[in-house]
Amino acid sequence: MSNELLEFDVIAEALIEKAQKDGAETMWDRKAALKTQCGFGEGGICCRICVMGPCRVSPSPDKGAQRGICGADRDTIVARNFARMCCGGTSAHSDHARDIVHAMYHSSEDGPFKIREEGKLRRIAAEWGLEDTDTKETYALAHELAEKALMEFGKPFGTQNFLKRAPKSRQEIWDRENIAPRAIDQEVVTLMHSTHMGCASDPESILRRSLRTSMSDGWGGSMIGTEFSDIMYGIPKERASESNLGVIDPEQVNIMLHGHDPNLAEMIAVASKNPELLEMAKEQGAKGINVVGMCCTGNEMTMRHGIKIAGNFYQQEMAIITGAVEVAVVDVQCIFPALPKLAKSYHTRFISTSPKAKIAGDMYIEFNEEDPLSCAEEVIKTAVMNFKNRDASKVDVPELKSETIVGYSVETTIGALDRVVNSQTDVTGTVKPLGDLVWAGVLRGAAGIVGCNNPKVEHDYAHITLMKELIKNDVICVVTGCAAQAAAKAGLLKLEAKELCGRGLKEACERANIPPVLHMGSCVDISRILHLVTLVANERGVDIAELPVVGAAPEYMSEKAVAIASYVVSSGLNTYLGVMPYVSGSENFMKLMTEGVKEWTGAAYVFESDPVKAAELIMADIEDKRTKLGI
Ligand code: SF4
Ligand code: SF4
Repeated sequence: MSNELLEFDVIAEALIEKAQKDGAETMWDRKAALKTQCGFGEGGICCRICVMGPCRVSPSPDKGAQRGICGADRDTIVARNFARMCCGGTSAHSDHARDIVHAMYHSSEDGPFKIREEGKLRRIAAEWGLEDTDTKETYALAHELAEKALMEFGKPFGTQNFLKRAPKSRQEIWDRENIAPRAIDQEVVTLMHSTHMGCASDPESILRRSLRTSMSDGWGGSMIGTEFSDIMYGIPKERASESNLGVIDPEQVNIMLHGHDPNLAEMIAVASKNPELLEMAKEQGAKGINVVGMCCTGNEMTMRHGIKIAGNFYQQEMAIITGAVEVAVVDVQCIFPALPKLAKSYHTRFISTSPKAKIAGDMYIEFNEEDPLSCAEEVIKTAVMNFKNRDASKVDVPELKSETIVGYSVETTIGALDRVVNSQTDVTGTVKPLGDLVWAGVLRGAAGIVGCNNPKVEHDYAHITLMKELIKNDVICVVTGCAAQAAAKAGLLKLEAKELCGRGLKEACERANIPPVLHMGSCVDISRILHLVTLVANERGVDIAELPVVGAAPEYMSEKAVAIASYVVSSGLNTYLGVMPYVSGSENFMKLMTEGVKEWTGAAYVFESDPVKAAELIMADIEDKRTKLGI
C-alpha cells in the first residue's frame, strides 16, 4: 500500500502491510471506510442538542436552510458546538487532576502513594495560603492541601488559586473580560447549561464563556494535575530515554502503558521491579519485564523514570501490530476503542482499568486508589503469563529507536539555565538568563508546540517541520504530548540537534548543555509552559501578551487540544492551529476567533495547515513583538 499521509513515517507502511497480512484493521482502514467526511460536521453547522433536530444549516447566507427548527443560525450553532468541545477538553484534564488529588488525599508514609517532593508540597501549600506550612507534619499538610485542591473543583465563591501566579496586568484583563475561571466543575456545568437548547445564542458571549471554561483547565485542572503529580511522584529531572517502536524488546515481557493518568503507571513501574514477578517472567523464558509508554502516560513515565516511549497517538495500533506486546494496559483518554479487537489478531491482552473509561472487548481490572498495587500486580502477572502465547511468526519489531533527553520541568529548566549564569555577578535559580537571552536577541523567542496526531494530516510531518523551521530561526521550542514524542522520534530531543539551529540558539544550547527542543511532559503539563512564560513575564515586568512567544498545535485532534488552544489564547499567546476546528461554517465566529478575541485577551487563534507557512507567520509575529518591546 502507499499512503501519502504516512510518507514522513518510515516504519508505518511496513507495519500497515503487516496488519493487512495478519487480518488486523487499522485506523487507516476505518478512515477509508468513512469515505468523504460530512461537510456540515466539518463546518460545525449541524446541531443535535435537542430532539427536534438534528438540524443542519447552510454554510452560505444566500441559499439553503438558514436556521434550525428552534431558529438557531449558523453563528449560534457553530459557537455552541465549539463551546461544548471546550467543555469536553476541560472536563477530561480536570477529572484527571481530581484523581491525582484523591491519590494525594490517600497518601501515607507506609502506603503506595507517598509524598516524594516535600519541598514542593510546602511551597504550593504556602502559595495557596495554608498555615504553618514550614512546620506541619508532611502527611497532615498533604491531606489539608488535597482537601483545598478538591474545593477548586466546586467551591461556591472565588476564582482559581493559581491565577495569582500571572502578572497583575493579565489578572486585570481576565477580570475586565470576565474570563477569570471560578470553580472548575462550575465552569463546565454552566457552559453546558448555556449551550442547551434555548439558552445562549449570542456567539460572542458563548466564545467568552468558552475561554473562561478553558481557563479553568489551564490555570485550574491541568495546573493542579501537574503540580500535585510532581509532589507525589517527583519533579521531572533531565534524563536519557529512547523512543519509537524499537523500544519494544522481543526478548522481554512487554507491557504497553497507554492513556494519561500517572497513578496507575506509577504503580506498574513499582510493581514491575518486584523480584518475584521478575523471577516469574524468567521462568516463562523472558529476559525481564519491559514497560513502555504511549501517549501521555508514556510522557509522565519518561519524564519521571526515563521509561521508554513506544510512540505517539497514531502509533497505538502499530505497537500491537509488532506482535510482541503481551499486555496493552490503559487508563483514560485517547485510547482507540478499536484496540481490544486489534489485540485479538495477536496474542496481546487488552486491559482497561478505569471505571470512567471501561472499554469493552477484553479484560477489565479496576484500579482502586485505596488498593492500587493489587491492580498493577495483576496486570503484570497477566502479561508475564501471556508471554508463552506469543506467535513468533507474527513478531516483527522495527529496529528504529532514537535517543532522547527528557525531563524539563520548570524547576529543571531553571537548573539548566543556571549553567549560563555568571555566578560572580548574577543570581541563580531564576528564569532571568532566559529573559536575558531573548532580550539580547540570542534567542528570537520561544514556541510551545503541543498536541496530537490526526489522520487528516501527514503523520508527524507538521510537528517536525515546524520545530525545525523555528529552531533554524533561533526560536527555542518547548514541547509536550504527542508533539514531544514526534520530536523525540525525529532526534530533536538530543544535544546533537543543536546543529539544526541558528547561531544564537546553538550557542545557548551548547552553554546550557540542553537540546533546542525541550520535553516538558504530558498534555496537562502544558501548565508548565504557562508557568515558565509567566515567570519570565513577571521577571521582566511585562504582560504575557508582550513576550515573543507563541503556542502551536500542528496536528491536534482532541477536545482537550481545543480547550488548550483556548486557554493559551486567553493567557495572551497567539495560537497556531494546523487543523481547522469545526468553525468554518460561520464566518462571523471565525472572525471572532481570529480577530475579535484579540481585543479581549491580546491574542488570537491562527489557522494555518502548512507548517512552513505557519513558521513564517510565527517568525513575523515574534519579530513584531520584539519591535514593540524595543528589543
Ligand atoms: S437546538 Fe435548535 S438547531 Fe439544535 S437540534 Fe434543536 S432545534 Fe435544531
Ligand atoms: S497530545 Fe493529543 S493524542 Fe496525544 S495524548 Fe495528548 S490529547 Fe491525546
